[in-house]
Amino acid sequence: NFLQLNDNQLIKQANYLNGEWQAGNKSITVSNPANGVNLGSIPVINEITLEQTIAAASNAFDTYSKTNTYQRSEWLLKWYNLILAAQDDLASILTQEQGKALAEAKGEILYAASFIKWFAEQINADHGLTLNSPVDNKQFHTRKQAVGVAALITPWNFPAAMITRKAAAALAAGCTIIIKPSELTPFTAIALVELAHRAGFPKGVINLVTGDAPMIGDALCHDQRVKKLSFTGSTPVGQKLFAQSATSLKRLSLELGGNAPFIIFADADLDAAIDALMISKFRNNGQTCVAANRIYVDQSLQQAFLTKLKAKLPSLTVGNGMDKNVLLGPLINQAAVDKVNNLVASAINAGAKLEYQADLSELSGPFFPVTLLSDITPDMAIAQQEIFGPVLAVQWFAQEDEVIKRANNTDAGLAAYFFSNNIHRCQRVAAALDYGIVGINDGMVSNAVSPFGGIKQSGLGREGGHTGLAEYQFIKAHCYGQL
Ligand code: ADP
Repeated sequence: NFLQLNDNQLIKQANYLNGEWQAGNKSITVSNPANGVNLGSIPVINEITLEQTIAAASNAFDTYSKTNTYQRSEWLLKWYNLILAAQDDLASILTQEQGKALAEAKGEILYAASFIKWFAEQINADHGLTLNSPVDNKQFHTRKQAVGVAALITPWNFPAAMITRKAAAALAAGCTIIIKPSELTPFTAIALVELAHRAGFPKGVINLVTGDAPMIGDALCHDQRVKKLSFTGSTPVGQKLFAQSATSLKRLSLELGGNAPFIIFADADLDAAIDALMISKFRNNGQTCVAANRIYVDQSLQQAFLTKLKAKLPSLTVGNGMDKNVLLGPLINQAAVDKVNNLVASAINAGAKLEYQADLSELSGPFFPVTLLSDITPDMAIAQQEIFGPVLAVQWFAQEDEVIKRANNTDAGLAAYFFSNNIHRCQRVAAALDYGIVGINDGMVSNAVSPFGGIKQSGLGREGGHTGLAEYQFIKAHCYGQL
């Protein structure tokens, strides 16, 4: 029931197993968060079919891992071009099942495609080493090999990009893959896989399964044939997958929750800082793990900051993402709305000041009004948890040392941002922030060329960037003797 598609064949109510689309017996219904429209349903895979899928991916690995990098790069570039050609349909599917505004969905499709191009290029420039030998009759070389079958478990907030960031690296490296998208947003994943099918990847190289996430996660983690698990999602689920992967000693990449500080120092370009804050906060309606969560503003800027920011907020039109003038769609579901509501109410109860809240009384559904709170203190839940909604929660600070301590005082360590026009401060603060990614006078840190990942409870490994392939490879050492 998707509207406005040129190519209806992109929608399959099926799983993709060993090169074929297969419908299952039981199913899960998927609906549009903006209006509750039933979009279709997807299979609940059973244990036997899942086992057959792992076997197919494992068999395909034997030949796929030995294909040469130029061939793999060609398949990837074909997939990339098919995605670009279908970008309007893909964006429309994404908006209808996920909610984000159509222009933003198109941005995500291009971002998703950029990982495929990036890894298609990286793999042909990737190589082992010839090492200088300290022993005259010996030579030491290294080669890189694909780790094996990779399981990719992805969330609903970036239904396209979280898949390609993993899949393109895995496929370039020579791994075969089993994708488990979020059951809330499976049709974007299905459409991407249908395009990969058309690009000509051999049978069994790409598989897509849906159903009972804990059952699927448990089976993939314990299976010895699955050599790698890459997961993006919540920290508790990441910890569970880590524990479940212990017996198979699986290679893990975990991209988990954040709690990003966004610091505006007194010497910042305030207009540029506010523009970047808007981008960081309102991308995907605040539902990103790198969204500015704790906003720290030098107290000397208090009035200027609030006046300038408040002037911008009314332009953020909320509604159905398919409508042209809408910038912010719904949250993913009512539970998300309730969670954000509770965070806001408890902050106000504890003394936060409500500076601005949009009026959404004409809308029904899981929409949340753009909200600005000030006088937030570190003990409030809203400063300790990911908000995952369009709420700006502002704290004031006086000293650089103090704000760095406050910014680092969290278990999360994914992204941090700060604004300053003093180069010495920029270098000091960038080094002092305990985060995997730091935006320095920048609110948009995600790019295929740059490593993405966190420290502390935000996870393990780096995706994208020049090290992204290494997540799906092991290094073999060859020692030649008797020379
Ligand atoms: P989010 O808050 O983004 O929904 P989750 O961690 O719940 O975060 O979900 C991210 C992905 O992990 C989704 O594909 C979801 O279906 C999957 N998932 C949730 N629980 C489990 C589990 N126990 N094992 C494996 N995957 C899971």
